[in-house]
Amino acid sequence: MGRSPDDKSILEVLLTETALRLKAGSAYFERGRRYATTRQVKQLKVTSSALSAVVTGTSRYRVRIWVEEGSLSHSCSCPVGDGGEFCKHCVASGLVWLNAVKTTQDWPEEDQSAVDLRAYLSTQTKEALVELLMERVAANELFAGKVTLEAAKAAAVPADLEAYKQAIDAAIVVDDFVDYRSMYDYSHNATTVIRSIEAMLEVGHAHEVIELSAYALECVEEAMGRVDDSDGCMGEITGELMELHHRACLAAPPDPEQLATRLFDWAIHSEWEMFLDGAARYADVLGDIGLTHYRSLAEQVWDQVPIRQSHDDRIGSSSNFAITYIMETLAKISGSVDEQIAIKTRDLTYAYHYVQIIELLAGAGRTDDALIWAERGLVAFPHGTDVRLRDAAARELHRAGRDDEAMTIVWAEFEENPGSSSYEFLYRHAVAIGQWSEWRDRAVGLMRQRESHTRAVRSKSGAMSSARGDVFARPFLHGYDEQPESSELVKVFLWENDIESAWEQAGSGGCSPRLWLQLADLRQGEHPADAIPIYQEEIERKLGAKNNRAYQEGVDMMIRVRALMARAEREVEFPAYAAQVRASHRAKRNLMKLFDGEGW
Ligand SMILES: [Zn+2]
Repeated sequence: MGRSPDDKSILEVLLTETALRLKAGSAYFERGRRYATTRQVKQLKVTSSALSAVVTGTSRYRVRIWVEEGSLSHSCSCPVGDGGEFCKHCVASGLVWLNAVKTTQDWPEEDQSAVDLRAYLSTQTKEALVELLMERVAANELFAGKVTLEAAKAAAVPADLEAYKQAIDAAIVVDDFVDYRSMYDYSHNATTVIRSIEAMLEVGHAHEVIELSAYALECVEEAMGRVDDSDGCMGEITGELMELHHRACLAAPPDPEQLATRLFDWAIHSEWEMFLDGAARYADVLGDIGLTHYRSLAEQVWDQVPIRQSHDDRIGSSSNFAITYIMETLAKISGSVDEQIAIKTRDLTYAYHYVQIIELLAGAGRTDDALIWAERGLVAFPHGTDVRLRDAAARELHRAGRDDEAMTIVWAEFEENPGSSSYEFLYRHAVAIGQWSEWRDRAVGLMRQRESHTRAVRSKSGAMSSARGDVFARPFLHGYDEQPESSELVKVFLWENDIESAWEQAGSGGCSPRLWLQLADLRQGEHPADAIPIYQEEIERKLGAKNNRAYQEGVDMMIRVRALMARAEREVEFPAYAAQVRASHRAKRNLMKLFDGEGW
């Protein structure tokens, strides 16, 4: 069916490439164009004023573009489209349709991309198919790796280890960066490598497997920085290869000293922490001879690590992470607490190292020593220190019956950071010695004092409070700012499940929107009228976000407000309220549809 330019539909008039480009912006437009060319648009259906399609990508999304009141509207079920934006799926659907109109002068058939490729390919000659595949080999590194690996596997296993290594190399090491989209192919290749090596182990080629899995791990180490590993599959690949290597070592134990040297070398030089736990993992293969050798290598390096006692020593120091980890692993194998502590004391520039020493000693029942280290830690880090050090030190002081000293440390923490989390910290220590009510009064008193101080400073600097009044119409909810003074106290009362005090505190001092909502949720049961203005304020915030999801949430919350009004015997107020919201948001077309649906 041919079409003359005269009977252009309204969709054809409005939905042009320029329109797509402008609505989407250049980034989404380019992505959409890629989707359009890769046949990801399916089930395209068109009327004179609307089109719909399904676009496949990471998932299936439903797109609709239609003409409404003389302009283009759109929707897509993807997360971006859900936010109201003109996403790549909308672009792709529009472009596929435009292309179909241009080339065939006819509406595209449904599922037009379903050319039967398999049927077509099966009519081709072997030579043509080889050419086609070689083109792809040349264009795609990952595909090339896959084919190389298949070829190596086909050659008698494992006659030619060098060829096999080349294949592993081709499959795992990449020249370019492997982006997120290509990671599936990448890890598929890596898995093929792992399975083929595993198959060799099962038929008894343990020596070869030791060599090949080690080689594959070297390849992984090399590739590691050049792949998008946001799904963490490199860790899985590494783990499987190490396990294979270990199993092969058990099946055909190598010379223990040579293995020890290799494992140590690897651990100390790997940029990706491979084999750091080698001593523990391979203890069964290394045996005493191997472990002794491993330890002597480690101690040689450890002797070079400088002793750091004060904060100044940290400056300009390089990280000794790997050797420290290795030494700790060895100490754990030997089971000696003193050895573990000796490693920690090599670097006392971190408060947390004292904590670890205290815990090691306490765990071994050496509480006197633990106390000595607690006191040393407090001397080394008297102010603004890691709360874990204060926690451990206070615990040891309690244990020694020195509760007053313990509470001095705990209070120092609270005084430095008077807030809900240090409040809980204070509670734990005070309640344990039956002194909570005194300490509670003191803590709440300090928080109130700090709060009124902050408020005084703020009101002196002015501006702050008046700005809020313009945006929010409800003066009763003052303190709706970024940093409301009373948020921490409100949190404290909520933590104590004292909802009445929390409510009073919020009313007098203000708190964050999130806390207001929490308060509303807690109070609506007994005090529906209290919750109404809070929800109304939240509704304004949601509608201001201008996206379909927020609109729906706003409408849901209005339904809640209506129910609360009914319970407060104020249902007569709702129509006027809804009308007022409607009037101030009438420009938001999708929102108005929701209002229409509710009959507001
Ligand atoms: Zn979309």
